Amino acid sequence: MSKTDKIYAHLPVWAQHVAVTLFGARWWWFRFGPGFQEAADGFRDREKWDRPRLEAWQADQLKSFLAAAASVPYYRDNWSASQKRAAEEGRLAELPLLDKAPLRASPRAFINPALGVRRPQTFHTSGSTGTPIATFWSAREARAKMAIREVRSAGWAGVSFREPRATFSGRLVEPDPDSRGPFYRFNLCERQAYLSPFHLKPDTAGQYVEALNKHKIRWLTGYAVSYYLLAKFMLERHIAPPPTLRAVITTSEKLTDDMRGVMEKAYGCPVFEEYGTVENALFASACEHRRLHVSTDWGVVEILRPDGTPCAPEEPGEVIATSFMRRLHPLVRYRIGDVACWDSEPCPCGRPFPVIKEVIGRIEDVVVGPDGRQMVRFHGIFIAQPHVQEGQIIQETLHDIRARIVPTPGFGPEDVKDIQDRIRQRLGPAVNVAVETVESIPRTKAGKFKAVISLLK
Ligand SMILES: [Zn+2]
Repeated sequence: MSKTDKIYAHLPVWAQHVAVTLFGARWWWFRFGPGFQEAADGFRDREKWDRPRLEAWQADQLKSFLAAAASVPYYRDNWSASQKRAAEEGRLAELPLLDKAPLRASPRAFINPALGVRRPQTFHTSGSTGTPIATFWSAREARAKMAIREVRSAGWAGVSFREPRATFSGRLVEPDPDSRGPFYRFNLCERQAYLSPFHLKPDTAGQYVEALNKHKIRWLTGYAVSYYLLAKFMLERHIAPPPTLRAVITTSEKLTDDMRGVMEKAYGCPVFEEYGTVENALFASACEHRRLHVSTDWGVVEILRPDGTPCAPEEPGEVIATSFMRRLHPLVRYRIGDVACWDSEPCPCGRPFPVIKEVIGRIEDVVVGPDGRQMVRFHGIFIAQPHVQEGQIIQETLHDIRARIVPTPGFGPEDVKDIQDRIRQRLGPAVNVAVETVESIPRTKAGKFKAVISLLK
């Protein structure tokens, strides 16, 4: 726990609401201050361009971005002379891929000193695996980030950051794990309810919905799994959704079609997905047709085969991102660690941005079969299972898989067998599957749900 979190944890609930509001006021200025409107207008405008115009603009941005990156200490020390020349000329494909390791080890080596930003804002990834990664932002870049979310995420879903919203995130909201509520704190400045992902259970779901009602929440955003669970509990307990609710926009965790179905039923409004990373190396969001469009005016996204050539549409490959919007801390051909594929069909909405058909999974969440086959589709394996509230896969060895299940009433031997069958179907009959029922599945420090834990070396 950080020093600020420790102080916060000792405050009474009313003072925590005040603290959250003060914190919110500071962020409000930081995110929506000078430059926000200008950036939002730019994103709104470029949406209406045709592809050739957008591509020409993108190539220009990329070229000036790469030329500047060549003088950033890390690239200066690691790129060869010919790679530097390629950067000067904007030839992205000739530059090496960037792993997370050097960024994690010396994040400051990626800061562009020429921009003269003395006190950049620092963001950290949640560090669900390994050390968190620090990224650095100028105020203008952070506002551009909010602007693209306002226009392409909230805007496409028909809502706005200026309207009351609720968020499930990794922020410390309710410090007491045994608290009986409230399980949220309200930031008056942004009219935002911060919900605690750690206290969500069938018998607390009603209190979460009450909070949404009380503050006339218009839209929900944050962790997909938390919103899915809340939706499930609402349906089981016949809890009506808040009448003011207009949209749900999930982030951070994968949203499957099954999850979306349950959520749209429970919340009575459309569910959208935003796809990005804490490093914000890419930005993608869902349009009214629920297709995930990559904002090509945020950066270049490549999906590559293991040999480095680009994947064909529908062919899964590694996602590589280069955001030319992030010039203070440029990440060039950054391996974000996801596997995804492009859609072969254009979206009927007609926007000039390409569509990601599916984000298949995290490379770190790969489960390996005894015969070496690799599976990244385990996320969501339990979603449509009756009698399973949630489940997690732990790969202990090549031959041993443990499934941790939080059961609902009615869970029995047939469910155990079904789970074992599903896993063997994917990994082969030789794998041992131990099914263990538990009361709850621990979240990461940031409150995220990990669908897969691999203990393989
Ligand atoms: Zn579309």
